[in-house]
Amino acid sequence: MLCPDQDALKPVLEEAANQGVQHMLCVSVSIERFQSMLSLIEPHKQVSASVGVHPDGTDVLEPDVNQLAELGQHERVVAIGETGLDYFRVEGDVEWQRERFRTHIRAARELDKPLIVHTRAAREDTLKIMAEERAADAGGVLHCFTEDWEMARRAMDMNFYVSFSGIVTFKNAQDLKDVARQMPIERMLVETDSPYLAPVPKRGKTNQPAYVRYVGEYIAGLREQSLEEFAAATTDNFYTLFNTAPKI
Ligand SMILES: [Zn+2]
Repeated sequence: MLCPDQDALKPVLEEAANQGVQHMLCVSVSIERFQSMLSLIEPHKQVSASVGVHPDGTDVLEPDVNQLAELGQHERVVAIGETGLDYFRVEGDVEWQRERFRTHIRAARELDKPLIVHTRAAREDTLKIMAEERAADAGGVLHCFTEDWEMARRAMDMNFYVSFSGIVTFKNAQDLKDVARQMPIERMLVETDSPYLAPVPKRGKTNQPAYVRYVGEYIAGLREQSLEEFAAATTDNFYTLFNTAPKI
């Protein structure tokens, strides 16, 4: 979620802790705001960061591989992204978006850090570029997954995890619920994708890390698992993928 300063961040982190959320990943969307994001999370060891430029960003600093690889060496940075393709929000010739995606994959491979990939209305091109640039070498996650089983399977074949957001709790998301039901637990993650997409029963509210609990509860219910079992597995997956460890 967007937190302008420490005063705004404090209650968000407290609420997350109250709901059993022990570690968070603050996802970078631009180079311009990267340093201020790092300063904001600096005192909070339970928050990691990524570095990257969102595929929707126009009129923003365009990163190159060296710059991303350099910023990505910061000790708090555990992933490259979010990056990817979004043909829904951005129209016209989007070759620049595909180039930006390739740049992120190259940086991730150079650093050997996983990718956070955003894909919307761009399924075949996303998979094609991931294959061409050998994204499997870095691994990563398809975040805020809204695609079908076929796409999930192809992502898993490329060494990727699949992350579910509050969308899975929405009534009209039947296909996504099916994917969440049959996905191998070893490849699953959960997220909030703040500030939008708050899960039921908080739908419509500003999303925040604490609400990931509702996403976890909902999917555990779909899979007829306990929340404890599901949360323990997805927590392990997080630490494995992002090569980090509990900080509290
Ligand atoms: Zn995204």
